[in-house]
Order: sequence, then C-alpha cells, then structure tokens
Amino acid sequence: MGETKLKVLLLAHTPEPEKLAALAGRRCYSRLDNEALWQREEDNNPAAFVAKVTGMGHVTIIEHASFTFAVEGVSRSLLAQITRHRLASFSVQSQRYVGETATQNTGGVFDYVIPPRIAALGEGARAEFARQMRQIQEWYDHWVQALGGTRDAFEDARFVLPNAAETKFVFTMNARELLHFFTLRCCARAQWEIRELANAILRLVKPVAPTIFAKAGPACLRGPCPEGDFSCGMINEVRARYGTHPE
Ligand SMILES: Cc1cc2nc3c(=O)[nH]c(=O)nc-3n(C[C@H](O)[C@H](O)[C@H](O)COP(=O)(O)OP(=O)(O)OC[C@H]3O[C@@H](n4cnc5c(N)ncnc54)[C@H](O)[C@@H]3O)c2cc1C
Repeated sequence: MGETKLKVLLLAHTPEPEKLAALAGRRCYSRLDNEALWQREEDNNPAAFVAKVTGMGHVTIIEHASFTFAVEGVSRSLLAQITRHRLASFSVQSQRYVGETATQNTGGVFDYVIPPRIAALGEGARAEFARQMRQIQEWYDHWVQALGGTRDAFEDARFVLPNAAETKFVFTMNARELLHFFTLRCCARAQWEIRELANAILRLVKPVAPTIFAKAGPACLRGPCPEGDFSCGMINEVRARYGTHPE
C-alpha cells in the first residue's frame, strides 16, 4: 500500500539471548554455582528449556535479553504511539536542537511522511499534500526568523509543525516487552505505520531468538481474537501470514 520511507536497523542485542534466558531460568532451580551453570548451558538445549519455562508462565527469564533498534523515515505520529510503551528506552532526534530546514529529499521542505492512503489518491493528492507541507515550512521559517534566527528559535517555531514531520530515534526493549509490543502492534487494528514498524522489527529479531519469538505476533495467533466487534474478521489469513501456533 503506497510507499513509506521506514528504515529500521537492529543495532545491538544481548549475545546468545536464549542461552542467557535459559541460564536465568536454571538459576532458579539449581544448586550449581553460576560459572558451572553457564558452562553447562551449551549442552543443555537452552532453546527447549526456554520454551518449557516460558510456556509455564515464567516469562521474566526473557527480560534479561534486550534489543536496540535505530528507526528513521517515520512520522512524529508514530513516535507518539511507540513512546506509550513505558518499558522501552528512547533517544529521539530533538526538534529543539535540530532545525526542520528544507531538505533535497522532499523538494525544499522538511522531511515528512505521506500516508499511503493519501498517496494512493493519485498525483493530485500528493501534490496537494506537498503544497501543504511547503506552506508549513514557510510558517516555520517565519517564526525561526521572528525569534532571532538562532537555534533557540527552533524550540517555539516547531509548534507549527505537523504529525507528518519525519523523525529518527533509537530505542531498546527487552524480549518480554517486545512480545507485548508485537501483540498490540502487529494486530490489523493497530495504525498502519506502527504495524509496519512492528512487522519489520519482528523480521529482525526472529532469526536471533527463534524460540523466544516463535509465537510472536497479534493475539489471534495464540487464541481467539480479543477485539470483539472491532475484529478484522481475517483470523485465518493473519494466522497463515505469521505461521499458525496451535496451543
Ligand atoms: C489499537 C490501539 C489503539 C489505541 N488507542 C489509544 C487511544 O485512543 N488513546 C490512548 O491514549 N492510547 C491508545 N492506545 C495506546 C494504549 O492505551 C497503550 O498506551 C499502549 O498500547 C501501550 O500499551 P501498554 O500500556 O500495555 O504497554 P507498556 O507501557 O509497554 O507496558 C507493558 C505492560 O506493563 C504493565 N505496566 C506498565 N506500566 C504499568 C503501570 N503503570 N501500572 C500497571 N501495569 C503497568 C502492563 O501490564 C502493560 O501492559 C492504543 C493502542 C492500540 C494498540
């Protein structure tokens, strides 16, 4: 659906996340000292142990594994949503210290995201959206100049900027919070941009920790749809897309 500029990198993650989670789990049930426990973990099939323990509801063990991402090409609208996830850590490009000046990418205005549904209306709609962004750039530049034209001016000039303004940020979540994030944000009911980001992140983390993320995705992968009257009604298609996970 339309084009987006979303780019997400997996910058770093806890080394051997499943082995670490398994060690954390075995710590609870073993007399061994920590070094011996860690050395033995290799031969102990950590993935199977993680699956067993988390399947019993002991999910805190996967909180020891964390993942850090760099995101760009997304809107401030997405930023407002993702920062509601309180167990994540964020570092966001500042609109106080970084001016929203014209860039070559968008033909002389600040970088912005055009919603695919607007883009899909055709050239006329895209041109109108671009014209509106140029108008906002003029308002923004007006206030930067009126407030002295220095970096201090960005702080107040930014009040006229739209949700469409593009942002860049780095964020970290542990594996348990990621699973929760996928449950809420891979769902068809989530807003398109954060859903696209959640799916991109799921594709990045699944190869790193295939057991931890084996059942990751919207809630309907693991049981009935919780959305009631708001259900997308496509449970079979959604399960097929993410892979079915019979309980
Ligand atoms: C489809 C959709 C529509 C939405 N619409 C709106 C909307 O219209 N308006 C709006 O304001 N928000 C909306 N939200 C955001 C939503 O209300 C949550 O703020 C957001 O999804 C983060 O979820 P969370 O609080 O479960 O997650 P996190 O903040 O990531 O927390 C993870 C879990 O930790 C626990 N936890 C965290 N903090 C606390 C706490 N203080 N006390 C107790 N337990 C805690 C909870 O179990 C929580 O589920 C929407 C979200 C979705 C997915």
